[in-house]
Amino acid sequence: MSNTVKNKRKIATDLAHFGEQREAHKGAVVSPIFQTSLFTFKDWDAISEAFDHRTESYIYSRGNNPTVTLAQQKIAKLAGGERALLFGSGMAAISAAVLHCVTNGGHVVAVNNIYGPSNNLFYTYLREKMNLSVTFVDGTDISHFEAAIQQNTELIYLESPASGIFSLQDIKAVTQLAKSRGIKTIIDNTWATPYYQKPLTMGVDLEVHSCSKYLGGHSDVVAGVVIGSEERIKTIQVREYEWLGGRIAPMDAWLITRSLQTLPSRLRTISANAMRVAEYLEQHPKIKKVHYPGLKSFGQYELGQKQMTGYTGLMSLQLDTEDLNKIKSFFNGLEIFKIGVSWGGHESLVYALAISYVKEMNEEQFAKTGLSYGDMRISVGLEDVDDLIADLGQALEVI
Ligand SMILES: *Cc1c(COP(=O)(O)O)cnc(C)c1O
Repeated sequence: MSNTVKNKRKIATDLAHFGEQREAHKGAVVSPIFQTSLFTFKDWDAISEAFDHRTESYIYSRGNNPTVTLAQQKIAKLAGGERALLFGSGMAAISAAVLHCVTNGGHVVAVNNIYGPSNNLFYTYLREKMNLSVTFVDGTDISHFEAAIQQNTELIYLESPASGIFSLQDIKAVTQLAKSRGIKTIIDNTWATPYYQKPLTMGVDLEVHSCSKYLGGHSDVVAGVVIGSEERIKTIQVREYEWLGGRIAPMDAWLITRSLQTLPSRLRTISANAMRVAEYLEQHPKIKKVHYPGLKSFGQYELGQKQMTGYTGLMSLQLDTEDLNKIKSFFNGLEIFKIGVSWGGHESLVYALAISYVKEMNEEQFAKTGLSYGDMRISVGLEDVDDLIADLGQALEVI
């Protein structure tokens, strides 16, 4: 095939074929799993030479492994980034990316509603261990960031849409501001996925994901990824990745490659299902509010349209009651929606973030999330959407 045809390929085609070395593997359509901890060499010079190019060489699987490389190449391509690095969890990826950006005594500006453990990483752990200070901002207006920046600000940490009520940040405006002040930016892009939102093309330095959600997509793997420029990712690779050791297992990377091949079609179905569910819930008399960036009633709908090309399946709803017994009856009354944490798999789930957040955060942190028990989070999966709507309808009858 000519290069011009290759360059015009769309991402669904690349996710199926990019990076595959089928000829080297006897034509196997599915790439093998290199279940090996180390790689052997023919002589002194060969292994010595491998160490001269350690970010590319296969020496030891805490550094590089071919099964992991394949998944990383597909993810980098999908995100429009130069290089990706897979980790054993989203939090391993996030902590490595953050440590790359901060130094002792530095300052971070982060968004209020970031994922709970990320909040704790800044608010509790890095404050105690590295004397880091953090200012949490609402983030829906660029002025919030301007006001929070200090002399020693090293990092602006975004999550758009953010956990909980899915508020957005204007990614281009924030990265412009950060660049003008010499501040690095990280975005947790887990909700939108790199299929529907490409922050690296909007000037973000590092994009992080929990691959345990849509990139894994089948609720059978916990993993994370950091994507960015060749230079930045290589620096993380020889430092945080190799020294803190949060690498992914080859089997898990192989599961992610499998999942990437179906990502566009899974997301299209989930997106259509979620829109139907959100519209149903929005008009339901027992529902006070639905938070879903795809709804026209969403406060920042225009911004979402500007920086995302689609919407995934996670939303939250506020039940029109504060009676905890009724809230629990709705939660327990769902039959198809399973009760569980996480999201982004084939199955529909329900959870109330307040259940764990009140236990994991202090009062000040929890108050800032604005969440209460009646805020339900639902992850819409791949089941038949009419069945999902009927399930919600019967559970809502108790309210
Ligand atoms: C789940 C999640 C994470 C953490 O990922 P793990 O793979 O569970 O470590 C980070 N950010 C967001 C937005 C998440 O939903």
